[in-house]
Amino acid sequence: MTATIIDGRALGAKVREEVAASVAAHGHVGLATVLVGDDPASHIYINLKQKAAHEAGMEARDLKLPADTSEEELLATIAELNADDGVDGLLVQLPLPDHIDENRVIEAIAPAKDVDGIHPVNAGRLYLGRPTLVPGTPLGIMRMLDEYEIPLEGARAVVIGRSAIVGKPMAHLLLQRNATVTVCHSRTRDLARHTLDADVLVAAVGRAHLVSPDMVKAGATVIDVGMNRNEESGKLLGDVDPAAMDHAAYMTPVPGGVGPMTIAMVLQNAVTAARLRESDAIASRRN
Ligand code: NAP
Repeated sequence: MTATIIDGRALGAKVREEVAASVAAHGHVGLATVLVGDDPASHIYINLKQKAAHEAGMEARDLKLPADTSEEELLATIAELNADDGVDGLLVQLPLPDHIDENRVIEAIAPAKDVDGIHPVNAGRLYLGRPTLVPGTPLGIMRMLDEYEIPLEGARAVVIGRSAIVGKPMAHLLLQRNATVTVCHSRTRDLARHTLDADVLVAAVGRAHLVSPDMVKAGATVIDVGMNRNEESGKLLGDVDPAAMDHAAYMTPVPGGVGPMTIAMVLQNAVTAARLRESDAIASRRN
């Protein structure tokens, strides 16, 4: 068996087209991004998000603050953007410089504008199974699974990794769709025992080729979130050995799989945030 490739580039482009159509229909969608400091990878991510937002027809505001910005200054900037009616979605690029308390900053973002879905209110709503803004990476993975019509009801799903931005929200989204979910992490004993049972396997670890082909069940759907830069070759490697394609029924490549979906889904979240804010405004005018 050779796996069908789940094409994240093509699907990401399709989602961005849908977002552009929604922005045009809505009239105005504003996204503000905040970057503190000079981390080169963060600059690349922010520039990609800005470019994609502009291409989708959004009003994209690009705030780049110096590395020595104090926590109070950053919190004041967030408060201004929270109060700004032209801003529907707001994201602060992580990681932040060491002198800034990341949790304080995340909690300062208005939950209704939190397009990264990382505010505790949004994480809590996801935990409770209520509709909310969900982090882009797991949301994009759900879109991929749906697009390729991967059955989830009753399926055994294994998520490797329990970060707040990928592993945990992923597990909750799969649970909402009635999969039977196992979450594995660095202390999991005999990882292969779990992965070999998975109809749907999501690897979000950050270790190149941690999942070897013999850890993948025949016919499984494999989603590889890992982005590991090989120092020598400069190549981007996933958490799953690509030779697992021989066992799997569906598999995401690296690059060109999960990566291109994440930004597209953050943009989609900005549209969702704009719609929710508008319907809240209409409801409050009626009351
Ligand atoms: P993270 O916060 O570092 O979390 C990694 C998780 O993997 C942790 O839960 C850790 O367990 C677990 N882990 C580490 N070693 C393990 C092992 N040997 N066996 C089993 N589990 C192990 O990382 P993240 O932010 O979730 O990101 C994970 C990967 O996805 C990274 O490569 C990142 O670059 C990539 N990523 C890609 C995208 C995209 O758009 N494609 C988006 C986000 C992240 P403990 O909790 O026990 O420490």
